[in-house]
Order: sequence, then C-alpha cells, then structure tokens
Amino acid sequence: AEFGFKRIALEEKQGLVDDVFHKVARRYDIMNDLMSGGLHRLWKDAMVSWLSPPRKGRPGSFQALDVAGGTGDIAFRIVERSDRVAQATVLDINGDMLAVGRERAVKRKLDDAVTFVEANAESLPLPDNHFDSYTIAFGLRNVPRREVAIAEAFRVLKPGGRYMCLEFSHVDMPVLDKVYDFYSFNVIPKLGQAVAGDGEPYRYLVESIRTFPNPERFAAMLGRAGFERVSYRLLSGGIAAIHSGYKL
Ligand code: SAM
Repeated sequence: AEFGFKRIALEEKQGLVDDVFHKVARRYDIMNDLMSGGLHRLWKDAMVSWLSPPRKGRPGSFQALDVAGGTGDIAFRIVERSDRVAQATVLDINGDMLAVGRERAVKRKLDDAVTFVEANAESLPLPDNHFDSYTIAFGLRNVPRREVAIAEAFRVLKPGGRYMCLEFSHVDMPVLDKVYDFYSFNVIPKLGQAVAGDGEPYRYLVESIRTFPNPERFAAMLGRAGFERVSYRLLSGGIAAIHSGYKL
C-alpha cells in the first residue's frame, strides 16, 4: 500500500511539471532570459564547451542525446560547436516544447542535424550503447525517479560515452544565498504569474530545486549508477552546477 501511495505521488509530480511546460512552451525562451537575466546562456555555453564535441570527422560521427531538451538550446550548441560533426537527438516528454524546438531548428538551418523525440527520460525508446554523449540541462530535477533516468542514461551511452548534467545547485555564499532565496520565492513566481498567467507551478519548480542533491551527493549518485571519473564545476557562485561522468 505504501508503495502504491508513493507511486501516485510521483505521477502527480510529473503532471505538475507537464502543466508548467505546456503553458509556457511558446514563451519558454523569453522566460528563461527574464528569469536568469540571460545567465542560462552562459551556463549552457559552459556545459557545451566542457563537453567539447569533436570538430573533425564525418557528419554524424558523434551522436549526442539531449534529454529534457525542450526547445533545443543544448542540442543546437553541440551541433554548431562541432561544425556539424555532431548530430543531436532532442528528447522531451512535452510535444509543445519540441514543436517550438523544431521551428527554431528550421530557422537556424539545423533541422537536418537534429532529431526530435517525444518520450520520458525514465524510459528512453533508444538502443543500448548508442550515444557518445548524454546531456540534460535543467531537466533532471523535474524527473520524478531520478535514479531511473540516470540508469537509462548509462544504458544508452557507448562505452567511453560521456554524461553531463547542468542543474540549479545550492548557493552557499553569504549574502548571495539570501538574494537567491528572495529571488526564487518572490520574483520567480511573480514573473511566472505575469508572463505565463500562473505563479503556482513556478513555486513548485522552485521547490524542486531545493530537493535536488548538493554537488557532492549528486556526484556520489552518478558513481553508484556506474559512472567513472565523475567531477563537477560550480557556476555563478553555485547557483548552477555541471556534473560530468564517463561510462567506461
Ligand atoms: N533543456 C532545456 C533548456 O535548458 O532550456 C529545457 C529545460 S526545461 C526547464 C525542462 C524540460 O524538461 C521541459 O521541456 C519538460 O517538458 C522536460 N521534462 C520534464 N519531465 C520530463 C521527463 N520525465 N522526461 C523528459 N523530459 C521531461
């Protein structure tokens, strides 16, 4: 009975997350710039430059999977940075976000290098040992069963493939932590209210940041899932963190 109860709770959690992104899909990119003051762009650049996909090779010789890829920001960066040696698959549970991504890919003339797949990070409809990289940016905290998503990442990566996660983290600098708390609990829901017409779901998203493990604990989780050479970098005083690990 206890297990049944927990399962319903987790499914509700996914429902809340889906509500947010169905509502904001069209305004998602503007919201991101507003809410992060443009910082999300620098953080995404930092992840893709740490990944440094190869620039030499035939097109498609590097296969990148971007999970919870939304409107394509990470996938586009990987393809562009690799001079199209990389091809990318954007996977997201939300068809509305993917539809925006597809339009953006066409506008940037990247649609031949990017494929869109609507699916859940917890059960990837993708083969074992296939991808050179797996990235997930601001997505894992929304996934109800994070361990399951990490195990799926491990499964679809080739031996030698790399896992990278960009996620909000825990600020532990005096003053900045207070500013950050105020911003998260007051400014973000109000912006959500103003732009998307509803602040409540944003309050939930801010909560999900609090429950995300700190960098050390998340690194340990990756180790337990089988990843090796796990390391991380903190961004902007710890507001965000990038974790990296290899399936060897
Ligand atoms: N990665 C993009 C970026 O950084 O701009 C989008 C991040 S957005 C904050 C979170 C995304 O996670 C949404 O597009 C949402 O639909 C997706 N998502 C939530 N739960 C998911 C799940 N279980 N499986 C796959 N995607 C999921």
